[in-house]
Amino acid sequence: MGAITCKFGGTSLADANCIKKVKEIILSSSNRKFIVPSAPGKRNPNDKKITDLLYLWYEIAHEGLDASEPEKIIRERFNTIVSELSLNIDINKEIDEIAKNAGIFDTPDYMASRGEYLNGKIIAEYLGATFVEPAKFILFNESGFLDTKTYNILGEQLQGSGLFVVPGFYGSMPDGSIKTFPRGGSDITGAIVARASKSILYENWTDVNGFRMADPKIVPNAKRIEEITYQELRELSYMGATVLHDESIYPVLETGIPIHIKNTHKPENPGTMIVKSRIPKGPVCGIAGLGGFSMINIEKTFMNKEKGFGLKVLSVLDEFDVRWEHMPTGIDTMSVIIRDKELGNKGQLIVDAIKKRCDTDDVIITRGLAMIATVGLGMNHHIGVAARLCSALAQAKVNIRVIDQGSSEMNILIGVDESDLNKSIEAIYNAFEDWS
Ligand code: ASP
Repeated sequence: MGAITCKFGGTSLADANCIKKVKEIILSSSNRKFIVPSAPGKRNPNDKKITDLLYLWYEIAHEGLDASEPEKIIRERFNTIVSELSLNIDINKEIDEIAKNAGIFDTPDYMASRGEYLNGKIIAEYLGATFVEPAKFILFNESGFLDTKTYNILGEQLQGSGLFVVPGFYGSMPDGSIKTFPRGGSDITGAIVARASKSILYENWTDVNGFRMADPKIVPNAKRIEEITYQELRELSYMGATVLHDESIYPVLETGIPIHIKNTHKPENPGTMIVKSRIPKGPVCGIAGLGGFSMINIEKTFMNKEKGFGLKVLSVLDEFDVRWEHMPTGIDTMSVIIRDKELGNKGQLIVDAIKKRCDTDDVIITRGLAMIATVGLGMNHHIGVAARLCSALAQAKVNIRVIDQGSSEMNILIGVDESDLNKSIEAIYNAFEDWS
């Protein structure tokens, strides 16, 4: 069997005991060879994540103020881990170096990355593994995207015997400065390492038993998903299912390396397997939803006869530098759904600009929408999926504000009032629990 890349999340590495458990997991299979650690996460719900403290340290230091408080907490956390693992490593010297640079950069990336860097050093020492510095071998291009040269350059560093530790979450820009991935981005590093090392499997060790068919905060007994494709997962993660960072899919997509979500605290649980393709049993694989959307509704008689109408609407959004998510259309109507975060306070300005450019007075903006994705590859082999979904919502007395089914027939998107979000997810889950 070939090699396995294992990424361990922050809660899997929150303290020395967790790290000991992780070592046991790694050593229990000789195929586990490439290790990608996150920074230590929360030890309990009231605890602080190291990465959050590092952002705070940067902000305070960058303002030129006294940042001794976050520095002290970070020193204590790492010193405790080092001493409880009885390691012979001068962690304070490393932290002194970080303290010197705490506020000097224009962005927080260097500081934010130090949690993974320090934890990587500790774990490499504890495992007797080779430490691989991401700043040298994970490269971004000028536009801030991963440079695909990375796969070869990093791959060369991952040759040879023994274990390798590559800290998650960061790499470097062409000028050598540190750049981090988005939050939760150690998952992305894991996928890059899996591809660069030609691993046959990417194990993503976290603190849950894999993906559930719906958010367990809304549906406490939601079923575990045994198998899901990259594409299905991306649709669900994009709508708020947060177990794995949605950008982690890209590095492994082409080569088809499966991702296995596993629970560090329950390694015997089968978890969720994310694969390139699968044969679905039922139509629905999962349901995920998020609030915080607005919808711009545009009406114009004979809209369908007018050439370039859609282009005019989208050019307004482009000029305001706003990305849109969905665009359900009718004969004389068109709606554009946008995340509130993206819209900011530009909503009314955009409405006015569309009115002017498209010569129509009927443009209104509806706020407070939630979008729910019901996702499953099997949808196009089954009849009556949308009917079952809509009748479940009708029975739950939910008003569907908008509905959109992509032509791939893999995702039915519905928009509801934010206040109906949880009720809707529960109703859809109950309707499809036995048909998944
Ligand atoms: N430590 C980083 C964060 O908190 C990256 C990660 O854990 O994946 O976002």
